[in-house]
Amino acid sequence: MLLQPSSGQMLLQPVWDLLRSRGALTQSPFFPVIFSITTYVSFCLPFVALDLLCPRVPALRRCKIQPDCAPSARQLLCCLGRTLYQHLVFVFPLTLLHWASGPAPLPAEAPALPQLLGHVALCLLLFDAEFFAWHVLHHRVPWLYRTFHKVHHQHAPSFALATQYLSAWELFSLGFFDTVNVALLRCHPLTVLVFHTLNIWLSVEDHSGYDFPWSTHRLVPFGWYGGVVHHDRHHSHFNYNFAPYFTHWDRLLGTLWHPHAN
Ligand SMILES: [Zn+2]
Ligand SMILES: [Zn+2]
Repeated sequence: MLLQPSSGQMLLQPVWDLLRSRGALTQSPFFPVIFSITTYVSFCLPFVALDLLCPRVPALRRCKIQPDCAPSARQLLCCLGRTLYQHLVFVFPLTLLHWASGPAPLPAEAPALPQLLGHVALCLLLFDAEFFAWHVLHHRVPWLYRTFHKVHHQHAPSFALATQYLSAWELFSLGFFDTVNVALLRCHPLTVLVFHTLNIWLSVEDHSGYDFPWSTHRLVPFGWYGGVVHHDRHHSHFNYNFAPYFTHWDRLLGTLWHPHAN
């Protein structure tokens, strides 16, 4: 019996067909690294331009959380260099190993839209919980902080290109959480691509230093999402706001920053 595709599936099918037709690119061992770097740099570049404009545009200064701080050209190049180096030296060999173990055949059908959205939301919530636990541990244990996490706190206040200014262990841990969650949930490859893109955007927004009326934390109701303001305070107050995106873990464990915290 032939099953009729759902309307949600029909919506995504043309996108999925297009990606499948580019199989030589999307299944090459270079794709994950090229995709990750180009997406990350494309999301960072508008914020680099805003940082250049900020001193001359008062409306922009009003949206900057710490308006008197701007990254130097040396800091920007140093952060970009670290991202490129780590992708080349650490990420690429791992994706090459994964590719050599035999690429999984791509399914012919796109996922249904509700399934894609549900899986992306679950992946985000799982990633948020895992990184919260990792982050608390790497702040509470001095050796872990000094050895693995201190490097990320080198740039305070933070800026977009400082998002991936991480130790190799932190980069590996983030990549591990990402990969395990999509595998556990058996996400469709299109869902994986959407989740990775969203995750890169949200992490860049977290470090951008700009609180716009359309920033994600203003779009999610009831203060559920901390976003850029939440993470900016983590970079300046250290002992608060350990979750990267949502606020429930910090709220539950008493580590949510409040105005009287020091
Ligand atoms: Zn931290
Ligand atoms: Zn950070």
